[in-house]
Amino acid sequence: MGEKSAPNISDTHVEEARDLRNALWVGGFVTLALGAMILASDPRLIALNIPPLELSLIAGASLLISIVGMYGLRAHWPVRAISWGTMIAYTLIISLTIHFTGGPVTPMPAVYLLIVGATSFLMGKRGASIIAVFSVICYAAMLLIEYNGISPITDIWHIDFKAENRGYLLIINWITVSVPTLMMSQLTGSLAERLQRTNLNLRESERVRDNLTHMIVHDLRNPITALMGGLDVLLMALSDKMSDDEKRLLQNARHSNKILLSLVNEILDINKMEAGKFRLNLASTNIADLIIQNTETMQAAAELEGQRLEVGLTSTEILVNCDGPLIGRVIANLLTNAFKYTPEGGVITTTLETTPEVITISVIDTGPGIPAEHQQRIFEKFAQVQGSQKRGTGLGLTFCKMVVEAHGGKIWVESELGKGSKFSFTLPIAGPSSTVVEARI
Ligand code: ADP
Repeated sequence: MGEKSAPNISDTHVEEARDLRNALWVGGFVTLALGAMILASDPRLIALNIPPLELSLIAGASLLISIVGMYGLRAHWPVRAISWGTMIAYTLIISLTIHFTGGPVTPMPAVYLLIVGATSFLMGKRGASIIAVFSVICYAAMLLIEYNGISPITDIWHIDFKAENRGYLLIINWITVSVPTLMMSQLTGSLAERLQRTNLNLRESERVRDNLTHMIVHDLRNPITALMGGLDVLLMALSDKMSDDEKRLLQNARHSNKILLSLVNEILDINKMEAGKFRLNLASTNIADLIIQNTETMQAAAELEGQRLEVGLTSTEILVNCDGPLIGRVIANLLTNAFKYTPEGGVITTTLETTPEVITISVIDTGPGIPAEHQQRIFEKFAQVQGSQKRGTGLGLTFCKMVVEAHGGKIWVESELGKGSKFSFTLPIAGPSSTVVEARI
């Protein structure tokens, strides 16, 4: 119980960093598009008096902000500080762009709304409010500079608008820009905070549910193991005195109990891997032996079901640095699935291919195949193909994926409906770089 940590500050930080990265990408792309437009625009064609030098410098500065922000994220600078720096710098850049594209006679101030909206999702209502106030102050400063003739309006629209004679108009213009900008900060700020709260609540209830499941599953293991022992003893001790029907009943009970035990173990192992508490016991392992052992175990069951089991090995000794018992369970899971889903008379083949760096193990069956739209999903927790006749736990492939990826390998399926499936996985011969399994699917 309590293996998973509560949704905390670091989770929120990861999300803020991801949102900031997206905002920086968008900023970078918009700037590149703007730069390309300036370069490509022939002022006579679009009939605007664009000042290319000033706008190119602004585009360059904006690109620089994106690059520095990205670098900061990679270098683990404090995310909140980068967010503040980026949003303040973008607000200044927008104010300059407005000035050099016509001041009060351009629709550019609408971009302030974009920045305020983005800030809400990055820094909440308080951050958005501060950036909104900063935007309207910058805009007021720009209008004042134009009104006082310190840097007159750039007349890109060919409108002979003299700011110094239009004081009232400038005030009205400032109010028209400021009110929506400030309102936007409150609206999007509240929305972003509500979304964040809902998200945190959802994650908290998911954590409580996971912990509860883990506790129940963990407590189930002991009685199931005891039951298994009891059934084994009964089968051994009373086998001679029981009728065939009674024996079959007892064997069925043992089989069901075995499935239950493997479900419990798989859930517990997956939970451990997700919590980063699972360690690989690496050792030089003869993979060919592992395949032979697992296929031999299945041979008798296969014959009973009228299936044929073939093994294609290129060598009898292939040493790989891996956790042998875990990789054995991966092979066993794939073989069990192949048997479970392949009807009577089918053929199941196991192959092993090697290169100097990696080995590839495949389990091929002549079963029903898996629809293309399910081929990725079946590796997710509890995912099963709808309409499948056989029931399972939906955890076997999740377990396989986690174990293979923890070893630095890959697992995938190729399948054709009505023809069969081929599950393959690779393992690096040298072994994984870390022994701690930390995976989330
Ligand atoms: P399960 O315990 O349900 O078999 P798995 O995670 O091992 O769980 O498999 C997920 C789903 O993938 C299965 O329910 C089945 O629908 C599909 N599947 C897996 N292996 C095969 C196979 N060899 N042939 C056809 N379908 C398969």
